[in-house]
Amino acid sequence: MSYCYNSVLCRYNEIAIKGGNRSMFEKCLVENMRGALAKIENLKISRVRGRIWIELKNGNDFTQDELDIIKKQLPKVFGMESFSPGILCKPDLEEIRSAVRKSVDNIFKPAMEKSKGPLSFRIRARRSDKKFPFRSKEIEIKLAELIAEIYGEENLDVDLMNAAVSVCCEVREEFAFVFYEVCAAPGGLPVGCNDSVLVLLSGGIDSPVASYMTMKRGSPVNFITFHSSPYTPPETVDKVKRIVKVINEYQRGGVLFICNLAPIQKLIRDKCSERYRTILYRRMMFRIAEKVALKNKMSALATGEAVGQVASQTISNLSTINNAVRMLILRPLIGMDKHEAIVLSRKMGTSDISNEQVPDSCTVFAPNSPATASKIPLIEKEEERLGDYNSILEEIISNIDLPEK
Ligand code: ATP
Ligand code: MG
Repeated sequence: MSYCYNSVLCRYNEIAIKGGNRSMFEKCLVENMRGALAKIENLKISRVRGRIWIELKNGNDFTQDELDIIKKQLPKVFGMESFSPGILCKPDLEEIRSAVRKSVDNIFKPAMEKSKGPLSFRIRARRSDKKFPFRSKEIEIKLAELIAEIYGEENLDVDLMNAAVSVCCEVREEFAFVFYEVCAAPGGLPVGCNDSVLVLLSGGIDSPVASYMTMKRGSPVNFITFHSSPYTPPETVDKVKRIVKVINEYQRGGVLFICNLAPIQKLIRDKCSERYRTILYRRMMFRIAEKVALKNKMSALATGEAVGQVASQTISNLSTINNAVRMLILRPLIGMDKHEAIVLSRKMGTSDISNEQVPDSCTVFAPNSPATASKIPLIEKEEERLGDYNSILEEIISNIDLPEK
């Protein structure tokens, strides 16, 4: 069965892009769409007055495979609000009727098989070309008559509020567009319209969600993960690599820096008070991450921290950890409940991997009762006991595994 769809209408939120940066935003979005749909040959993507159209260069209808790719990929393109596959035709009532006639079975037939009684449906027409000889209401009536003619009035019910299926038609000066569904896309801004960010990525639920939220505001993300080999198993890193693969479906080519924190953790274990270990580890993680970000032209760090979630995330400890670096640190989950993060991680596809239980670098030599509050001068005193920790950090950085895609 062919869908007869020759176009996909893509909508984006114009409010975010009023003013001079609109063209930059649109170009970036189109570029990302091209990347996401790279498997489809002869793609033509055009920008027309605040909307983007996808067609094939030869004007053919999309195949089922191509539509499947579009429906799988476009919900991963940030910056887009929604999209509708459909039929683009001349702004002429006969053409519109014939577009409906050849495509309506795709939607109505399966719905009728499922429907117990008459199938509830609605027609929504919008005419922005006031010269078109029929008003929106009249177009709706004409199309409803056509549908009744095809399926029989007795098998149909008009329902404007909760229809099982809809026939939508837009008529503009240059074209008419018939479609049946509005598919959700993730919104936000296209990845690449803002500077790059380095995400501190653990294998947990939260930092992948932080990556999602950061990309959603237009920043490409790269990742740094800390393990503590040989105190953590190879699975710790393997899990993070698999998470990166899923996150990279929303952008192109984010790289993973893999860093062994064990040398400085051992020193902290041997020289500092046990109860401050986690805070001290995390200050070292941030210092390393800042250096890696600066070296690789990234402008900020991001973490999955949320106020109050664990001992190291009290306001007091967050501020002590924050104080270790000067770079901007984004914490997109800061006000979220764990449940909200879990819902998002399911939506983005990382939750199953995150739920696999493997040891995290932070839990190596973890204290029995970690401090829930800390003062910066006191923590600095603890760090003095480490001697020249900077040279250890440099050594750790020089041993970072080559970035992996
Ligand atoms: P997550 O679910 O992301 O692991 P969490 O709730 O378990 O977060 P923590 O373990 O305290 O909280 O970590 C807070 C944040 O610190 C993480 O979201 C992540 O950004 C960073 N982080 C923690 N452990 C690591 C690690 N091993 N490598 C890189 N970043 C880490
Ligand atoms: Mg964690």
